[in-house]
Amino acid sequence: MVDLIRGLRAADIRANLAEARERIAATGRTPDEVEILTAVKYVAVQELPTLAEAGIELVGENRADALVEKMRAHPGLFRWDFIGALQSRRVPLIAPHVRMIHSLASQSALRRLAAQERADLRVLVEVNVASDPGKAGLLPEELDEFLASSPIAIEGLMTMPPLAADPEANRRHFAALRELAADHGLRELSMGTSQDFTVAVEEGATIVRLGSSLLRGRSAHRRAP
Ligand SMILES: *Cc1c(COP(=O)(O)O)cnc(C)c1O
Repeated sequence: MVDLIRGLRAADIRANLAEARERIAATGRTPDEVEILTAVKYVAVQELPTLAEAGIELVGENRADALVEKMRAHPGLFRWDFIGALQSRRVPLIAPHVRMIHSLASQSALRRLAAQERADLRVLVEVNVASDPGKAGLLPEELDEFLASSPIAIEGLMTMPPLAADPEANRRHFAALRELAADHGLRELSMGTSQDFTVAVEEGATIVRLGSSLLRGRSAHRRAP
């Protein structure tokens, strides 16, 4: 388990957010076409108000128990999305609280979701576009049948491509996700992290998920932890 980040400064995060927005605008997409979600898995629960102070409204968590703990500690502070590996037995825990689930990837979780009384819950399917054995998500060839069998509406696709030294290496994976979504008439594309979000935006991302690049310290006078 990695250490949680402490000693965040709102001014740093605000500047990081402005820079991310500028980089998105530089691709030619307009800021309201691309939502920025802040991934908070490395942020300690008591640091979350600093994110809100910096203007962050939409956050994503990877673990169901962490999501519920953080959300309950700060009710109403953010809108919450779930972006981690979705275990079917955890679906009832998070479904009442989240805006969107990005990472549906199993029939068992789909059945649990369909049983939730949340008509407004938005759901994306995670696809392992690189067919990387170490990665979560449906394989591209499994998507057709999964969508056809789904009793609930699916709004889009999400992917988490391999770590790459050069963000250009992931362009073909983002393009592949965009094509899969277009083939199935799906609108939302959750793709791109700190390392490669500008490439993802160029390839059509509608939501980028940023962690480290928004949380980094910028000033020389960073408070000691
Ligand atoms: C941590 C995480 C991110 C953000 O990654 P960074 O490299 O910190 O920007 C995005 N998506 C998922 C699913 C994550 O777990």
